Amino acid sequence: MTGRRQTGATAPYAATQAASRGRRYPEPEHPYRSVFQRDRDRIIHSTAFRRLVYKTQVFVNHEGDHYRTRLTHSLEVAQIGRTVARELGLDELLVEAICLAHDLGHTPFGHAGQHALNQCMLTFGGFEHNLQSLRVVDELEERYAAFPGLNLTFESREGILKHCSKRHARELGELGERFLQRRQPGLEAQLANIADEIAYNNHDVDDGLRAGLLTEDELAVTELFGDHYARNCAQNVNISRRALRSETVRAMINEIVTDLIDHSRATLVAEAPADIEAVRAHSAPLIGLSPRAGKRHRALKEFLHGSLYRHERVLAMTARAQVIVQGLFECYMNDIHAMPKDHAQRAEVWTGESGDAGRARAVADYVAGMTDRYAYSAYGRLVEKISMNQAHDRNGDEDAG
Ligand code: MG
Repeated sequence: MTGRRQTGATAPYAATQAASRGRRYPEPEHPYRSVFQRDRDRIIHSTAFRRLVYKTQVFVNHEGDHYRTRLTHSLEVAQIGRTVARELGLDELLVEAICLAHDLGHTPFGHAGQHALNQCMLTFGGFEHNLQSLRVVDELEERYAAFPGLNLTFESREGILKHCSKRHARELGELGERFLQRRQPGLEAQLANIADEIAYNNHDVDDGLRAGLLTEDELAVTELFGDHYARNCAQNVNISRRALRSETVRAMINEIVTDLIDHSRATLVAEAPADIEAVRAHSAPLIGLSPRAGKRHRALKEFLHGSLYRHERVLAMTARAQVIVQGLFECYMNDIHAMPKDHAQRAEVWTGESGDAGRARAVADYVAGMTDRYAYSAYGRLVEKISMNQAHDRNGDEDAG
């Protein structure tokens, strides 16, 4: 029984069960599921995965029911990833596992939350959402008697860890080596990385238009949107604005995904890596867009950075998110027992082991795991408690006076 036959990977350079570098804690094989299928299944059944439904992508979760959340984003990334994997003969289930897990370490309130938590953690080793995703699957999920985390394969873990500082890479052993030696991860990991970019670029266009933060005319300055929008306007005179938007975004994704397949296939034919180890030894990724499509894709990305992510409504949300995340962090640092019991206990143990840095890490893990709405209500309770205490102190002063 080979992983390759089970999962449909057909190319010699695909990840295979037989060539897997294995799990941190050895486990017997499953009678009918491949190792990568099990990784995918473990991720879907994890608590952190379920929480993604209430975490922000760009818009705060409660702003509207039609916007992407981290869960729907992750599903869309997996859909794009699997489509390309199938065309290139890669392991679809491994790609899916990486795509579904890639955002597990995200804080509430998207990048605003991550930035705020990193600020809080600067003197305690910092906070990187990518590293946190790995921490979730390696350490924080509590589901098995025999080991912490989900005990995923090396291949899934190398895909989840997209980037990493040199300092952290040194601490990660085998998994961190490629960041120090400038080697590549397997093709499935390379693919998941770019599928993420394709998904958010195009879907942020869709959500940005829907929210009224962008207009079609503004977006038309980018070639990728402008070309498909103009063609769709000419071909579909009597359709609704909503359908036109959807047709345009679909055509954009189709152009980029088709280019990704064609260009990567040509690169793989030219380079002909013999197996996954040969892929890893390459100095540059082998999965990627052609220069022309890459340029169109990046121009859109830059446009979104300048227009959507810096829109005043998004920035207002960002500022509020930072106040909440910082407020929660400070509160729990001052009083670990304001956290649920298991988190408080962990903070106690880690404080004993490594002082303030240990306590801060336990607090950061707790805050990072929160959904947007949980963080909102936790902060609300906190503010209420503080103002009640202040009122109590004032009354006390008056009584004493
Ligand atoms: Mg993502």
